[in-house]
Amino acid sequence: MNKNIDIYDVAVIGAGPAGMMAAITAASNGHRVALLERNPEPGKKLLLTGNGRCNLTNTASLKDLLEKFGRRGSFLRSAFSSFSNTDLMEFFESRGLEFKIEEGGRVFPITDDSKSVLKILETSMRKNGVKAIYNARLKGVKTPKKSDGNFILKFDYNTVIKAKKVILATGGASYSATGSSGDGFRFADETGHGVTPLKPGIVPLKTKESWVKRLQGITLEDVTITIKHHRGKMVFKDGSLLFTHFGVSGPLILDNSSKIIPLLEDGRHVNIILDLVPSKTTEELKTILLGAFESHGKVDIKNYLKLLMPNRMIPVLLSLTGIDSKKKMNQMTKKDRNSIINFLKAFPITITCHLPVEKAIITCGGVSREYINPNTMESKVVNGMYFAGEIVQGCAPSGGFNLQQAFSTGYLAGLLS
Ligand SMILES: Cc1cc2nc3c(=O)[nH]c(=O)nc-3n(C[C@H](O)[C@H](O)[C@H](O)COP(=O)(O)OP(=O)(O)OC[C@H]3O[C@@H](n4cnc5c(N)ncnc54)[C@H](O)[C@@H]3O)c2cc1C
Repeated sequence: MNKNIDIYDVAVIGAGPAGMMAAITAASNGHRVALLERNPEPGKKLLLTGNGRCNLTNTASLKDLLEKFGRRGSFLRSAFSSFSNTDLMEFFESRGLEFKIEEGGRVFPITDDSKSVLKILETSMRKNGVKAIYNARLKGVKTPKKSDGNFILKFDYNTVIKAKKVILATGGASYSATGSSGDGFRFADETGHGVTPLKPGIVPLKTKESWVKRLQGITLEDVTITIKHHRGKMVFKDGSLLFTHFGVSGPLILDNSSKIIPLLEDGRHVNIILDLVPSKTTEELKTILLGAFESHGKVDIKNYLKLLMPNRMIPVLLSLTGIDSKKKMNQMTKKDRNSIINFLKAFPITITCHLPVEKAIITCGGVSREYINPNTMESKVVNGMYFAGEIVQGCAPSGGFNLQQAFSTGYLAGLLS
């Protein structure tokens, strides 16, 4: 960036999916647009999405999309209506990228490569004349003194640009190595916007039990968890759970973490009951075990258990239940049988806390929706300032919803209505 003061109609800050879509939309409507990004290249986080495959969006209905963003998801109705999931797919399809739909309506590019998504965005910016400026980290924002004045934006190395309108699309505060380190929240705060507490969304949870370490790397498929807590009960069904060296992760935990985290407030612990075999009732398991104790009488219990659970779980079961590993099946007592059934159907884990925002896939919390006009994404307190993407309060579970939010709010902000 040169040190003369450049003047643009619109300055978009942040070249993530929200900022790139905002820049393309504004430029395609004839505005002179600068897109400023602190990294040497755009879309660093976008490239990581979907394990590098980019789960771009989801085929869910508008109603379901909104519900994914929680109680106040309707804030996004205008954004999702102006630029829906089908509009997003058409945007890429009309530029030569096909999609495939996977489990749960998750949409991925046919290339299985997020680079193909980024490439189209970059080409589209170029074709529409967006001036992309990299290695430009915004340091401060001065709002216009008069209604027809300019924003003054100060970047690294004393570089300044002026713009009639500004779109802040600096992302959240997760995975800061991608550039999204939460700068935008400061600019929002300094210009008079409320910022709600930043909380992690889609994040692993820590457990009190240190034996989880021994199970590190084990994934349990199709399990159910039940949480009884001071406000009632929650049941999350048929997902996979991964043990880690500090606790639990995997889709079942990650996708429900934002519902579990509020229960951890004030240092509370949350007791999770894990059902490893939700397809079988306690009675059915009792019949199966009684039959097995009889038919496999001479077999060591530790060998039989391999049929019921991953090998590395067996020592944990034996030490938690106190069953002697050398016992034969025909030596099993009623108490032993009930202990095994209890382990399989009601395996208790204590959640003590979550990993920090930095380690989360998404940042929940952000620029308060109260300060943003949902029909335009323009600030209610600073005319000409818009917000798009993860910087805005609210988050969804995994499934392509968060990228859809970034593209839809980016599009709506880019209309500059
Ligand atoms: C590992 C991982 C996997 C994910 N997978 C998926 C997925 O498959 N599907 C899905 O829907 N969502 C996924 N997400 C979430 C998704 O990536 C985000 O929701 C999305 O990237 C948000 O877009 P954004 O444009 O708002 O912000 P970002 O993508 O974070 O972009 C913000 C940009 O602003 C720049 N910036 C920040 N501060 C400044 C500054 N001061 N000056 C200049 N530039 C600045 C940053 O460098 C960054 O490039 C994933 C997230 C992670 C971390």
